[in-house]
Amino acid sequence: MQFTYPLFIFFMHPKLKFEIDYKKDVRTFFNFASDWEYENGRILEWAIFAKYPLFKKFKKNKKLEVQKSFVKKFVSGKYKKNIKIFRKNLKIYDNNWKKIEKNFYKLTEEIFGKTPWPKGKYIVYLTIWGMFPRFLEDKTFQIPAKYKRKKYVSVVIAHEMLHFIFYDYFLAKYPKYKGKKNYFFVWHVSEIFNSVVQDSPEWIKLFKINCMPYPEHNKIVRILRKKYYRVEKWDVDLLIKDIIILVNQNSSKLGGIAQAARLKK
Ligand SMILES: [Zn+2]
Repeated sequence: MQFTYPLFIFFMHPKLKFEIDYKKDVRTFFNFASDWEYENGRILEWAIFAKYPLFKKFKKNKKLEVQKSFVKKFVSGKYKKNIKIFRKNLKIYDNNWKKIEKNFYKLTEEIFGKTPWPKGKYIVYLTIWGMFPRFLEDKTFQIPAKYKRKKYVSVVIAHEMLHFIFYDYFLAKYPKYKGKKNYFFVWHVSEIFNSVVQDSPEWIKLFKINCMPYPEHNKIVRILRKKYYRVEKWDVDLLIKDIIILVNQNSSKLGGIAQAARLKK
């Protein structure tokens, strides 16, 4: 007798692909450059100038005016020069992730239950820039091309993956927060959510390293950690409700929300 098991009994997890593509990093540069307004150019400072001060000379009226051909040449040059070490690092990151991905999916399932992972490319690219962006629209993200603490890169990967499933879950549950005017509100909620989750004992046990919260979220994260640090079982909806309340209470101090509110008028 023959048994055939229907496919749907296997719960599918995305399989990450690790790739190198300097052109992605050129586009990322211009993404950062278009975000210059946020927090008085904090993104430009962290993502570009801190690592490559030479780009400061392109600052004009708080904007970055630089030719695409210049950036392309700069980025492709970096990739050419470092290609061996980049390939080696990519392999290390890939292997490290493979060692923990099963447990990571188990941990996310404890939070989101059987919520399916959103569809997307799930490609991980390297970046030479100082911040590691994620692209919700196609489920791709970037990790540092060079990094001393290689194991921290797994924390970064888990962080971005958590964003993907969180945004999907959150916007399905709270459709009123869809749309550009809520961009910063949801961004704050998602970052705080990640900090609370990634610093819980079970997650630290797996990753061995904390995830660094954005400085403006420290206060809220501290309050929530006290409440959620020892929870036996995650109540994702309760945690989200708590975060929404705290973000609303602190919205005047959190970047972007006040700006967006002004835009609405
Ligand atoms: Zn994040």
